[in-house]
Amino acid sequence: MRFSKFFAPTLKEKPKDAFLKSHEYLIRGGFIQQIGSGIYNFLPLGVRVLEKIKTIIQEEMNKTGALEVSLGFVTSANLWKKSGRYNRYGKELLRFKDRKDNEFVLGPTHEEVITELIGSYVKSYKQLPLHLYQINLKFRDEIRPRFGVIRGREFLMKDGYSFHSSKEDLRREFNVMEEAYTRIFTRLGLDFRVVEADSGAIGGSGSKEFMVLAQSGEDTICVCNKCQYAANLEAARRIKKTPQTLPPQADFAKFHTPNTTTIESLSDFFKVDSFWTIKAVVKKALFEEGESALVFFFIRGCDTLNVTKALNVIKGANEIVEASEEEIRNVGLCPGYIGAYALRNITQSPHIYFDNELENAKNLIMGANEEGYHFVGVDLSLCEGIEFRDLIEVKEGDLCPKCGEDKKGELYLTQGIEVGHIFQLGDKYSKALEAFFLDENGKVKPFLMGCYGIGVSRLLGAIIEQHYDDRGMRWSEAIAPFTLDIIVSNVKDLQQMEYAMDLYEALKERGIECIFDDREERYGAKIVDFELMGIPYAVIVGKSLNEGNIEFIQRKNLTKEKLSVGDTIVEKIVEKARS
Ligand code: ATP
Ligand code: MG
Repeated sequence: MRFSKFFAPTLKEKPKDAFLKSHEYLIRGGFIQQIGSGIYNFLPLGVRVLEKIKTIIQEEMNKTGALEVSLGFVTSANLWKKSGRYNRYGKELLRFKDRKDNEFVLGPTHEEVITELIGSYVKSYKQLPLHLYQINLKFRDEIRPRFGVIRGREFLMKDGYSFHSSKEDLRREFNVMEEAYTRIFTRLGLDFRVVEADSGAIGGSGSKEFMVLAQSGEDTICVCNKCQYAANLEAARRIKKTPQTLPPQADFAKFHTPNTTTIESLSDFFKVDSFWTIKAVVKKALFEEGESALVFFFIRGCDTLNVTKALNVIKGANEIVEASEEEIRNVGLCPGYIGAYALRNITQSPHIYFDNELENAKNLIMGANEEGYHFVGVDLSLCEGIEFRDLIEVKEGDLCPKCGEDKKGELYLTQGIEVGHIFQLGDKYSKALEAFFLDENGKVKPFLMGCYGIGVSRLLGAIIEQHYDDRGMRWSEAIAPFTLDIIVSNVKDLQQMEYAMDLYEALKERGIECIFDDREERYGAKIVDFELMGIPYAVIVGKSLNEGNIEFIQRKNLTKEKLSVGDTIVEKIVEKARS
């Protein structure tokens, strides 16, 4: 490609709203253009990279036997009403009407469409399994579109959906996808972790996210410093915490503990580590149709409640919010002195849960449900009917649940960008949309489904977040828009132009994707563009051609070397550009 005929409108100025390097460089490098909040045009350079990313995804997906389709972007609202998501999806779903008043949505994801499609064609277990995927536009009216293509409103997603007649087969495909995604993100040159996205209540993890490790990531993930364990904070587990101090020795008794409404003041009062205290966390759960209820969680004083874990424990709750002091007092409780004894009688609440790590715990101090009093010597193994759940938030330094026992791996928190998500959906959509098949025994059953997404346009940003320097992007050869930039220092110099032209033709013939910078621009400006666009290699044809030399630059670390021109120069460059 001759640069003089190409279209790559580069900019000197950083866009005002570009806080991330990926956003800044994609716009300044002429890869994308913003045309609205969270909406972008892709320019030729952007399209070239997108195409390469897509090809890698298609190759790996096709290898697994998944079949590519293309589903309508505009989707009938009726399907969404049937699945119940028309109302539930919230404002991210763009709803609209056509001229005949028919209701539609712009697809933010395509479970409904694909379920309907399969339901209308597939009737027997003999036609299963089946996996269809597409790489297509999505629209989500995100509340805060930002970071360029990382969180857009209109974006490209690879979304795949698989259909199975048994749980085992769904699980098999889920594992196949985990492997395929791992190959895709490895080929894209990403440093990523496969993260357990839920607490794994349905036997193994039913949902995994692929997180690119980057300081700018919006997701906080918990990873191990010794093994590959990684999890979202709401799914992170640890090896049960052990005491660092001896337990306080006391028989069960009620104790006058004035002014001890915080864990800190309580452990100060007794001079004990907060590990031996029980913290009561009272929240308000919100249910459908405006219903609400107070919910009670008991954890060790040294721990913190994870609100998502807590929410998952309360069946049917949509949200958990703070409970006010007034609301707590109204049910007959005294903030700062809340304990589990007689709590059900006082409050009539069925929502009382203890953290798993408190199972059989002894020598504890807990509120007495009376102003100014705590119980000491509390032994939870003597209490009946306690419901234990995983409630606590993992902290940095906690031991890894996978390797903490033997390798003493410690957990730490880091930021990630979600680039992929695989999910065992089960029969959620097939039941709602009445998509059934006949099994081996002639019984009617809903399909078991998996869904698998990749943020294709987001990847453009995520890759740069891991590969840039202060001059611009640094693409790997696998996805660079061009492999080599042939820069003619002075296009008016006929000797330079002719040599560069021959080199360009020869390298093109050898299959190297070249951009030939034949523009009537200053040499400095051409180098700035080369560095900004992140093309992996450049050859400079300049003055030293007179002495029989050209220069070869590697974008990655900006190393330069002289190559003497001669019969083998093409071979030499090909070899370097493929190394
Ligand atoms: P997020 O938590 O980042 O909002 P999500 O969990 O809502 O993402 P999924 O529904 O799992 O996203 O969609 C599959 C993939 O699509 C995500 O893993 C992500 O890479 C990509 N994606 C989701 N939302 C956006 C967006 N607004 N812009 C660009 N890519 C997106
Ligand atoms: Mg997701």
